[in-house]
Amino acid sequence: MIVRIALPTPLHRLFDYLLPLTPVEQEPQPGCRVRVPFGNRELVGLIMEVSENSDVPRNKLKPVHEILDSEPVVDPTLFKLGQWAARYYQHPMGDALSHLLPVLLRQGKPAEFAHAELWRAVDGAAVDKLSSSAHRQRELLELLLEHPAGISADALRAEGGQTPLLKTLAEKGLAEAFEHRPTPLHADLTEDLLNEPALPVHGEQADALEAIYAASGFTPFLLYGVTGSGKTEIYLQAIEKTLAAGKQALVLVPEIGLTPQTLGRFRARFRVPVHALHSNLSDRERLDTWLHARAGSARIIIGTRSAIFTPMKNPGLIIVDEEHDGSFKQQDGFRYHARDLALVRASRENVPVILGSATPALETLHNASSGRYQLLKLTQRAGNARAPRFELLDIRQQPLEAGLSDELIRRIHQHLGSGTQVMLFLNRRGFSPSLICNNCGTVVDCTRCDAHMTLHRNPPHLHCHHCDRQTPIPRACSHCGSTELKPLGIGTERAEDALQKHFPDVPILRVDRDSTSRKSALEKMMAVVHSGEPCILVGTQMLAKGHHFPKVTLVAILDADAGLFSADFRGMEKTAQLILQVAGRAGRADHPGEVVLQTLHAEHPMLQTLIGSDYLHFAQQEMKLRYAAALPPFAHHAIVRGEASRQGWAEQFLQELDQSARTQVQMPEGVQVIGPFPSPMEKRGGLFRAQLLISAKTRPALHAWLGALIRQAEADPQGRRVRWTLDVDPIDNY
Ligand code: ADP
Ligand code: ZN
Ligand code: ZN
Repeated sequence: MIVRIALPTPLHRLFDYLLPLTPVEQEPQPGCRVRVPFGNRELVGLIMEVSENSDVPRNKLKPVHEILDSEPVVDPTLFKLGQWAARYYQHPMGDALSHLLPVLLRQGKPAEFAHAELWRAVDGAAVDKLSSSAHRQRELLELLLEHPAGISADALRAEGGQTPLLKTLAEKGLAEAFEHRPTPLHADLTEDLLNEPALPVHGEQADALEAIYAASGFTPFLLYGVTGSGKTEIYLQAIEKTLAAGKQALVLVPEIGLTPQTLGRFRARFRVPVHALHSNLSDRERLDTWLHARAGSARIIIGTRSAIFTPMKNPGLIIVDEEHDGSFKQQDGFRYHARDLALVRASRENVPVILGSATPALETLHNASSGRYQLLKLTQRAGNARAPRFELLDIRQQPLEAGLSDELIRRIHQHLGSGTQVMLFLNRRGFSPSLICNNCGTVVDCTRCDAHMTLHRNPPHLHCHHCDRQTPIPRACSHCGSTELKPLGIGTERAEDALQKHFPDVPILRVDRDSTSRKSALEKMMAVVHSGEPCILVGTQMLAKGHHFPKVTLVAILDADAGLFSADFRGMEKTAQLILQVAGRAGRADHPGEVVLQTLHAEHPMLQTLIGSDYLHFAQQEMKLRYAAALPPFAHHAIVRGEASRQGWAEQFLQELDQSARTQVQMPEGVQVIGPFPSPMEKRGGLFRAQLLISAKTRPALHAWLGALIRQAEADPQGRRVRWTLDVDPIDNY
């Protein structure tokens, strides 16, 4: 017998192996892991098929070393979802399927819980069976009797027990060790689910919930709700219903580390445990959570992108919070989009799926307006909270100090004076985005990228944010030798500096990747914010995600123009989302908020729509432009990217790829090829990059053409000096 194996390699194919002739203990089934020889290594792969024959001559086939599972590691629905995703994203099967498994299973470890050894007193054991002089044995036995469900030796020691005497007790027939597989508390609850009552809902919230409750089987919802409108409350109540039906809920969020408050709310609400799949878990903890989810004993699973592949025994609901967030798309290797896979998965599991956002992606809105998704709207803030007031602050001809206008400084004074907090948003970390020679105008560039070096003050150095290159600050201009080098432009460190001068008595909290690289740093800053004392937060988009700052009453966006004239056709959409997400942090609870956008383009139609109307109106306008230009969501895109050590190689490779595919295969109707062009940032990390954009009217046409391209690329000997990747449904063109 022959087994066809998916192995984690970059090759777009499966590999055949022989099963040993001697009867094997484990029946080989698709979905079971095997260990096989591959070159001079051993790899762990998944059986895709058991077959009688192979295209490879029998004497060339190698035998499987070991079958690792007696049953498929994941259920057939998830296994098929993985295969579908590999084909959809045109990614090598074995590598794509490895995403279904936690690291320990990829390494071939058994799919079993960690077994803890516990101790307990045997039935009928009593202290008076021990001699009254055996004090320490008596104490130990007493401790054991206090823990009838069993206790680990470590825990006994912590309670003062003399654990070396456990053996003695066992020999006397008074105590015994046993293996314990930890099951989460309340894993099977379907009643008395709540720790705290659900909030009473009315109006739009009640309507939305009613629609969700009425759903049976696969039903996609778009929950469009302005920040603070009570989307999370809807999730909680929808999940309660799911749990009451004995089922599990999977919740995808952009970044758990940044949204501890959301997780806290889930934990506060339910008595069933909430399992978070975050990046601080050890491999062992990750596997245990995965096993609990697979066994059905993890009832609520919250995780980031990769959690979409968590197995569930009784799936009942899938939620994608902040569905517009770019972090749901994996940006290297297997470039899947977890939000899109959530829909495919919900359909295959036949369960409802809720996509929630205050600023939905245009793709999602398009699906809602074409009737594929049911649109649920929450247009008001929940409770007594009022929406923030928006204002464009025209800074033409205004002197700025480190990006701050006089008017803005006046407002900051005003808000701090009334005892509330202020948040300033600037999406650029470092002191200034460039260092320029005052004499000849030369800017210090990265030698490996088409990019300027960012100046950092703390500690002082230059840093390329694209390839991570770091250098000392040069003393003189490399072009003219002048020593007059000046920072040009504003980063968060510089804004922080200026604020400190203006507001010496107020804590200034800078939140960006540099200031929060140590784990506790962010927590400490958040503690200051939540103390409620006046303070100024200044930071990058880390501030835009998830946090609720009830005491912030002024939000200022220092450079609202940053994304207005982007080369990326999604630039405007992303800018609008960012502005509204940042604004949404302000004025929750009953502090009315004020949002100030500093701009040089106060007449810009996008800014006007955003402040005068709402996101849906902005999206409608943007959608018309996309339609007119036949851009997504009115077309389907894929990008083939190439990179090589010499300029021109990648472009030439893509050119030849395109041409040879055209000579081999008839190009399907409705497919358009744009490029190849050098990438918007051609040189990066020392490599020269180019890209080929494929646009198609339909997905089948797109996929047919991509298939043809991949076959050519794999056959092309030039492919060796050009590293190429394929991105289906790219979310940016870099
Ligand atoms: P979103 O997720 O849309 O930002 P939340 O669910 O976090 O909104 O709700 C914002 C605030 O309003 C929270 O403090 C929440 O407790 C409160 N809230 C939500 N729904 C209700 C309700 N039905 N009654 C009273 N307060 C509510
Ligand atoms: Zn110079
Ligand atoms: Zn660089």
